[in-house]
Amino acid sequence: MTSTRSALDVDWLAVCRRAVAGLEDVLAQSPSTAERARETGDRGCGGDRTLEIDRSAERVVLGELDALRERGYRFVALSEERGTVDYGDQRVRVIIDPIDGSLNAKRGIPHHALSIAIADGGTMADVEFAYVYDFGVAEEWWARRDEGAWCSGARLDPALRERRARDGRLEVLGIEAADPRWIQASLAGLLASAYRLRALGSIAVALCHVASARFDGMVSLTPSRGVDAAAGQLIVREAGGVVSFPRCAERLAAPLDAAPRSPVVAARSLDALHELEVVPA
Ligand SMILES: [Mg+2]
Repeated sequence: MTSTRSALDVDWLAVCRRAVAGLEDVLAQSPSTAERARETGDRGCGGDRTLEIDRSAERVVLGELDALRERGYRFVALSEERGTVDYGDQRVRVIIDPIDGSLNAKRGIPHHALSIAIADGGTMADVEFAYVYDFGVAEEWWARRDEGAWCSGARLDPALRERRARDGRLEVLGIEAADPRWIQASLAGLLASAYRLRALGSIAVALCHVASARFDGMVSLTPSRGVDAAAGQLIVREAGGVVSFPRCAERLAAPLDAAPRSPVVAARSLDALHELEVVPA
């Protein structure tokens, strides 16, 4: 083995693209809902029932990380199903949701994504590199801190602001964790802030839709987990948007872990962010 190398220097874009190719094989091998609905019998460390496709997808991503360790890189991985996997250095964190939007993947609904974030600290503010690949529509989103964000090779325009209906409500608001009970509980805020709602079923992809200003904002109606939002939130911020985890002490203080801590809220302006921070009940 060669000497230890800083995992921040890894070509993470290339690693993520290799993982996408592997995950495409996993999904192609189980094309039907019946195949994709098979459960392992376990729950991931995030609490959801683990599907076989989740576990196979995670194996692909961890296989790429194993290869990095072989080349001398050290870091710690946190993945939705497996939890923490120690690759020898706690200072660089790799936050993985192998399939964000597993229900969509299971049912053949387009938006389901690989989400990977690389951080040099323990909170959302510390994410250095972010990658989201939406398998349903074959869109690749990525961002690097202080360098910008891209969708399928095109730089996202940080100057884009929200669109509003004539009465001032945001034209299109993404909602996630769209359980009818939580929609009911948040109804007053939704009525006040949104002209139309869209629920894609993937927090990572919904955040990317704010990054590209397809959505004027997004809210998760219940606390999200670090694994869901870590990559998407940097993509929003590097694309000129703003993000908040309103139940944390500071806007980006949510920890990079698999526990639900705070709803995630994103918008194209601070005014819109403040309007949306009060939506989740
Ligand atoms: Mg997942």
